[in-house]
Amino acid sequence: MAEILEIGLVKSAITAPADPFFMREQESSILVNAAYAEGLYRIEENEYLTVVFHFHQAEGYRLKGPRYDDEVTGVFASRSPRRPGTVGVTTVRLLERKGNELRVKGLDAIDGTPVLDIKPYTPSLDETEQGQVKQDREIQSPRQEIVRAIRRHDLRSLLLGAGSIHGHFCPGLALGVIAGAYGMQEFGLTNDGMEELLAVIEINNCFCDGIQYVTGCTIGNNALIYRDYGKTAVTLCRRDGRELRLAVKSDYREKLNQLVPEFAPLFQKVVTERKGDESDRTEFKKAAAKASFRLLEMPREDIMTAAAVRITIPEYAPIRESIVCENCRESVMGSKIVEHHGKKLCRACTTDRYGELNGEGIENKP
Ligand SMILES: [Zn+2]
Ligand SMILES: [Zn+2]
Repeated sequence: MAEILEIGLVKSAITAPADPFFMREQESSILVNAAYAEGLYRIEENEYLTVVFHFHQAEGYRLKGPRYDDEVTGVFASRSPRRPGTVGVTTVRLLERKGNELRVKGLDAIDGTPVLDIKPYTPSLDETEQGQVKQDREIQSPRQEIVRAIRRHDLRSLLLGAGSIHGHFCPGLALGVIAGAYGMQEFGLTNDGMEELLAVIEINNCFCDGIQYVTGCTIGNNALIYRDYGKTAVTLCRRDGRELRLAVKSDYREKLNQLVPEFAPLFQKVVTERKGDESDRTEFKKAAAKASFRLLEMPREDIMTAAAVRITIPEYAPIRESIVCENCRESVMGSKIVEHHGKKLCRACTTDRYGELNGEGIENKP
């Protein structure tokens, strides 16, 4: 085999193997041997570098075993440091170059690790292909990241994802995430949004977004059925007859107040009374986010009940023909057309009553 040279060493505050996600957050340095320093010419023009290094402290390897998330894979299907080739490859951010020292962020190699090679990370060569593969996988299975997180019970990732549609972090959102993840774990994880899995939700608030994100039952795919009870509860149903109702316990707020005492008074001031200045609102957001992530650590059975139930669920959403309103000329779902003096009109063009789902629940208008 060809001889592999050490071109430098890692200098890091981390001296023993640690959690890879923690290590990826840290800054460290690569000290390049003086003999190779000329090879760093213009390296600072690159934002990212791919670093090849030697896992010098890894002892032995297992060809198959659990990964960090408990999934069992072969060593070549994992990023385990214990590998037959003892070589690690990581893309890092280059923070600065000082002579033959490179300050980097994201290098998951401990202090003293021999560095074998450094190359600029080149999006056109490295990323497009990776990005394409990822995209192809996502087209096949758009919810795979969510499903993975549910499987490894990674409620934090799920809450972060739910926040991306909800806009903020709050206890209600966290409760929806907890209920959704628990239900999906009980019910099998898949949902392709074709109404095999339904979520019958009993309230329209923050809870609802946690449910929609984690279960994939949404108002858009007709798998989110809204029952206007005003209770923080959801029933997950599969068409094969399995049904599970998760309901938040009435004393959950007391438990929340013990966890994050500053939340309730700020909620009262900022949300209930709609008073509170800019700084109150900032503090409230902080407290709400803190409360939502703390909730994830509580045992599910302490905050919500789970019970097998029987409820009536709707049939698959019907496909109705569209009819053009004779007044506004817009296309309307056929069943919503009203006859008015012999004309086929939409409800917006008549004074006919319509239902509106708003902050009150379902309201009949006008
Ligand atoms: Zn919210
Ligand atoms: Zn109309």
